[in-house]
Order: sequence, then structure tokens, then C-alpha cells
Amino acid sequence: MKILVIGSGGREHALAWKLTQSRRTQVVCVAPGNGGTARHPHMVNIDITSPEKLVEFVREEGIGLTIVGPEAPLAAGVVNIFRDAGLKIFGPTKEAAQLESSKDFSKAFMKRHGIPTADYQTFTDAAAAHQYIRDKGIPIVIKADGLAAGKGVIVAMTEDEAHEAVDMMLSDNKFGEAGARVVIEEFLEGEEASFIVLVDGKNILPLATSQDHKRLKDQDQGPNTGGMGAYSPAPVITPALHARILREIILPTVNGMAKDGITYTGFLYAGIMIDKNGNPKTLEFNCRMGDPETQPIMARLKSDLLHVMEHAVNGTLNKIELQWDRRTALGVVLASEGYPDTPVTGKEITGIPKENEDCVVFQAGTQYIQDKLLTSGGRVLCVVGLADTMRMAQKIAYDAIDEIRFDGMQYRKDIGWRATKKLPA
Ligand code: ATP
Repeated sequence: MKILVIGSGGREHALAWKLTQSRRTQVVCVAPGNGGTARHPHMVNIDITSPEKLVEFVREEGIGLTIVGPEAPLAAGVVNIFRDAGLKIFGPTKEAAQLESSKDFSKAFMKRHGIPTADYQTFTDAAAAHQYIRDKGIPIVIKADGLAAGKGVIVAMTEDEAHEAVDMMLSDNKFGEAGARVVIEEFLEGEEASFIVLVDGKNILPLATSQDHKRLKDQDQGPNTGGMGAYSPAPVITPALHARILREIILPTVNGMAKDGITYTGFLYAGIMIDKNGNPKTLEFNCRMGDPETQPIMARLKSDLLHVMEHAVNGTLNKIELQWDRRTALGVVLASEGYPDTPVTGKEITGIPKENEDCVVFQAGTQYIQDKLLTSGGRVLCVVGLADTMRMAQKIAYDAIDEIRFDGMQYRKDIGWRATKKLPA
């Protein structure tokens, strides 16, 4: 079968990589793809982004299945357009994707259906927002309502920061339409984890658990980013907590969407905060796989992803069980100088090791120009190590990184620190 993956990040490289391992996969087209998907023998980059043109391409090429990586095409309705054209695609409709594309929608949805989350209020008026901050005090979290590539959230530890965030969004329009409404919510303390499931409209199939590292710098310092590294499984999600998250968050979400007249299909990602008493609360929903969580999760998936995706689009996820590599997979993101604000690009990348059983490098902001692999974005590579223990997986990933070079390369040296802290020394 010919498959189309929409997107250009490390997540899409990892999905395409896993799909090429299926015996029935003829080719994976990636639109628009990156340097990593450009040179793989069973992948082809397609320079198309408009959904209507993609529909034409899929028809002409006889593509059997499309998988959507990032949130923007989902929010723009790519799934609706493909379905109207009678084509098979895995992802939520534009209506369902509002769970991610509008934080106000998502918070109101959670409140309506009793899904545990932080208390909040939504504002369009700056004066009212400033007053609310004065009433509630700090710490407090200010969020642009719309999509802002992970940069529209300010966790304010001082009142000044909170007021500045409101001004930036409501008065100075720094986030444009996405910041025309802001959600101000209670600060939650605890440990974060990512809980991602597949939903086929009625059945829910959880993927392996994972944990991301949002902050730029070691020890969770510095600004929030798209994610600087991730590992799977996340030991913080015990079997008991796993059951609670499914029962208290995931099931009521899928059922709540159905009650509201929206059938949910696609990946559903709940960002969870586990408080010191072990209670899970929902930080956010994403309507797609996480990046970089996808990279270690795909590295661990033993099942045939094409087979899984076919069940997902046919509404028969209840018929399958996923098989996982028992090892820990740990991915470290290598980013460009200046990321996340103003990444410097166009630098030559060397030393990427050949894939082996214990190590695979997924590419993101990369492209070939005149046969040279150059950086072309903020997050450049994700180096995944696989091993029986977290510490060994760390060692494999960081040893591989020692060989990789590009000017201005920055990365965290402590990916996995929360999990290793829990281990005996
Ligand atoms: P992304 O798309 O990258 O996942 P986002 O823009 O949708 O991010 P959120 O996930 O809602 O934003 O928030 C980003 C990060 O901010 C969270 O991962 C968490 O670290 C922090 N955060 C968000 N809400 C809260 C909260 N209520 N209390 C404490 N920290 C929070």
C-alpha cells in the first residue's frame, strides 16, 4: 500500500520510519517531509501542503491511507476535506480538533463533562484579566486561546510576568487571532506525563506512556519549547494511575465529545499533571501525537503500524493488542542556536550514526541542499537510545550525540532525570 504522512517534523519521520517496516508498505510519501525522509529508500517527499492539492495527489497516486502529524492541518479541516472526497485518513475532524485548537473550548468541555483540570476563566478584556490576576495572585498560568506552537503559555511566577503576558496577548496582539482570547488558570504543581491513545470513533487503544521535557535548559529551567526530549515508558504512570487516567480523563473525553455530537477519531493526547497526592489532572489535550514523544514510542512499537492504522480507520481497534519492546527508549532533541525564539539555520550537520538495534536518529529541521545536510529549523534531530535500563538508554543516546556536529547545537544533558531520580543509585 502507498501511504501519505502529512508533516515535516521528527514525529512524522518516526511515523514514516515505522510504517516502512510493514511488509505491505510500498512507499510512504511525506508532505512536505524533511532531510531524513528525503533519502530513505522507501520514503518520498512531496512538496504539497494545501489539503485540496493533497486530495488530488492521493487520487492520482492511489494512496490507500493518510495519517496527519501536526495540529495545524487538523485545525484547518484536512480530515473533513479528505472524508468528503471519500478518502481514508486518520485524524480528528476540524470540530473535534477544537479540543486542541481552542483552549477555551477545551476548558469549557472539561468543566461540562467533569474531567479533572485546573480552575480557570477566559478573558477578551485586558482590564478584567488584570483584575482576575490581582484577585487570584501568583503563581498563575496565562494561555493564548489558539494554536501558538507551544509558545502561547506563560507560567507566571511573579505578578508582573502575568500582567505582561496579558498585555502581550490582549493589548499588543503578539499572537494575533490566537491570543485574542486568553485563558487564565490555576497553577498546578506536580510531575507531568503524556498519555496518548488511538480512538476510532468508539474504541480506545492506549499507546505506551511517555514523558516530555518542555523547558529548554537542564533541571527544567529556561523557556518552554516544543519539547527537548522524551522517554517511554514513564515510570510515574503506575498501572493504578494508568487505569485512573483512562477512567477519569480519556473515557469521559471520548464519551463527552460523542454527547456533544462530535465523533472523535485520531490520536488523542492528554497532557497530565500528577499532583503530590498522586491525583491526575488534565493540563491540555492535543489531537495528535506528541513531538518528541512519538520518537521513543515508535522506537518501542513492535506491532505493524500499518495494520494498526487500518484498524483505526475501520473502527476495529477493539480487535488488536499492541506489542511493545520491553526496553526503555530515550530521545534527546538537538536544537539550533537561538531556539525557541530565533533559531539560526543553514548549518551543516555531520556525524549522524547509522541506525542500529539500540540507536536511531530521527530528523526534523533538516534539508539537503546540493547534497549537504543542513539545519532548517529550531529542532533539528532527535537521537533515540534503547536499552534495558533508563541509564543505559541515556548513555547510548548521549554517546551517539558526541559524534554529531553542527554549529550552535544545543541540547539538554539531563533527559530522563526525573525517572533516574526515582531509581536506586
Ligand atoms: P504544546 O502544544 O507544546 O503541548 P501548549 O501550547 O498546548 O503546548 P500547554 O501544554 O497547555 O501548552 O502548556 C505548556 C506547558 O506549560 C505544560 O506542559 C506545563 O509545563 C505548563 N503548564 C500549562 N498549564 C499549567 C498549569 N495549569 N500549571 C502549571 N503548569 C502548566
